[in-house]
Amino acid sequence: MKKTDILVTGGAGYIGSHTLVELHNSGYRPIIVDNLSNTSLENIKGAENIIKNKITFYEFDCTDEDQMNELFELENNIEAVIHFAAFKAVEESVREPKKYYDNNIGSLEVLLKIMKKYDVNNIIFSSSCTVYGSPDILPVSESAPFKKAESPYGETKQLCEKLIDEVDLNSISLRYFNPVGSHDTCLIGDCSADKPNNLVPIICEVAGGKRNTMQIFGNDYKTIDGTCVRDYIHVVDLAKAHLAALNHILDSKKIKTAYNIGVGKGVSVQEVIDFFEKINDLKISYKIGPRRAGDVEEIYSDNTKINNELNWFPVMSFESALKTAWIWEKNK
Ligand code: UDP
Repeated sequence: MKKTDILVTGGAGYIGSHTLVELHNSGYRPIIVDNLSNTSLENIKGAENIIKNKITFYEFDCTDEDQMNELFELENNIEAVIHFAAFKAVEESVREPKKYYDNNIGSLEVLLKIMKKYDVNNIIFSSSCTVYGSPDILPVSESAPFKKAESPYGETKQLCEKLIDEVDLNSISLRYFNPVGSHDTCLIGDCSADKPNNLVPIICEVAGGKRNTMQIFGNDYKTIDGTCVRDYIHVVDLAKAHLAALNHILDSKKIKTAYNIGVGKGVSVQEVIDFFEKINDLKISYKIGPRRAGDVEEIYSDNTKINNELNWFPVMSFESALKTAWIWEKNK
């Protein structure tokens, strides 16, 4: 039987590569477009190793309309696009906002134009809980308003969701909370070229000796232990949410919606470090530093909408996320 072609922009990235595996395992044919700007070919090779198959890969920047056009000419059976390709470093976006507006919004504009031209009517968009800003009610649900974004990165996610809302396409925006961990083979993972900014990769670098120590950014928040609270979602569960969304969008006549993808439970920075030490039997050197600009005090998801509508539930443990994150770091 012929497989359904799915274009995965940013398919060589952290979440993208995990999604390739789930797509293949469910009988889809993923096609990657990625400029490898903040990831590595190793992730594609890792995914190919896991699925024991080659994956079609186009290496170019998604803002390049001519090349995108050529891709859609060649691959004329694409049924849906999963759009991951974007810059994602919050702190960098504060320093270089234009880079974020140009790339994150520019690539979506090109994609929407080409999808319309080639009559491809389904898009799943990588959004983020940053669209909520600092929410008034916790857990935050999809009906919460978009408050002021804490960074240009967050603004691009808000704007992209609005752009998608305005076009005549089926769309699902997936609002990720904090992805962590790796596939259980540890053959794919976060290959961001830059120094990591995220908590778990930084803990792993300290554990592996790449960094001597780390800081907890603030312990005077109004939370359980004074440190910030987040909702950490295993990347394999997150990848499976894309599959659930894809199955749903392809079954729907008309759909425009958004789903939170989180566990629904808040965990503090201190708790993450303590748990990492416990399960990996290590000591992490850290000190308490000042608050980091742009950090939201506490956010975690209400995930009942996707539970009820798509029958998606997180099943992977936080323990397995922290263990695979550490193995991935050691294997790098
Ligand atoms: N964090 C920290 N030290 C670090 C990196 C992160 O205390 O070296 C905290 C950060 O302030 C936030 C939480 O860890 O409260 C998660 O941060 P991350 O950058 O991983 O994700 P974010 O929620 O900002 O997207």
